[in-house]
Amino acid sequence: MSRTTPPRPVDITAAFPQLAPLARTATRLHPRPGSPTPHDSSVGGPLLWPADERWPYCDEWHDGPGPVAMLPVAQLYVRDIPLLRPPGTADLLQVLWCPFSHEPDDRPLTFVVWRTAAEVTDVLAAPPEPFDAEYGYVPAPSVLTPEQITEYPNPMELSEELRLRLSDGSAWRAAGADNPYVLAPDEYYWNELSVTPGWKVGGWTRWGLTDPVPRLCPECGADMDPLLTVASSEWASNTHSWIPAEDRAFAEASLDHPEPWNPTRLDLARGYDLQLHICRVSPEHPHIGLIQ
Ligand SMILES: [Zn+2]
Ligand SMILES: [Zn+2]
Repeated sequence: MSRTTPPRPVDITAAFPQLAPLARTATRLHPRPGSPTPHDSSVGGPLLWPADERWPYCDEWHDGPGPVAMLPVAQLYVRDIPLLRPPGTADLLQVLWCPFSHEPDDRPLTFVVWRTAAEVTDVLAAPPEPFDAEYGYVPAPSVLTPEQITEYPNPMELSEELRLRLSDGSAWRAAGADNPYVLAPDEYYWNELSVTPGWKVGGWTRWGLTDPVPRLCPECGADMDPLLTVASSEWASNTHSWIPAEDRAFAEASLDHPEPWNPTRLDLARGYDLQLHICRVSPEHPHIGLIQ
């Protein structure tokens, strides 16, 4: 079943035309429990990994026996997510992680591979597995139904002038836009109109744990863009407008359930997300990860 984000409750660029040049496309992945194969895009599924290629291990110190075999987190084929910009002939992104917290910001250590699927003729049948994993660090095998949507920046990344306008209820009324957040109109923009919750590729950086910080390539110093967002939930009570149309009945039925819906069963840094960023100059430069 595909998943469809409902039309945005407010046409935000009609109300605030200054936002129009800041629109960015993102691809919501909509992971749902399933049985993906190495030939499918997936979260927590088997990777198209060459039988004769070394499997990645984490060499950091852990409370356990030796290096830790990394765990598949996501496998994304460009045919499913055309937004990806792989290097050379590559058409497949693979992300793995070591399922333990690492210094300095207590997140799983990630490993990113770009691959040309046609070059993998003999697929590794039984990859090594980690001897253990931290709670909330093992994604449930999920199939994807990618969907392109449009995002606008977190309010903290906007100009002071635009931020003030978004926090002014009379500016919304003057534009004919209904804003139910009477006390903090800008939070309505933040929660329901700017950046989508859940797993996604591309778009804008999701801030929330910290104020925005520069994301500069460790190799060349260029700006970095969001690559993959690994989420601890697909929606919450304050991001209701992003619930896909096909999940509305389920979401309404579980309104009295205090937990946001989390099909991949991850729990990163007490419910936050991990957002991998890559260099604008070269996707092969080292990536960085942010917990937000
Ligand atoms: Zn590790
Ligand atoms: Zn770079």
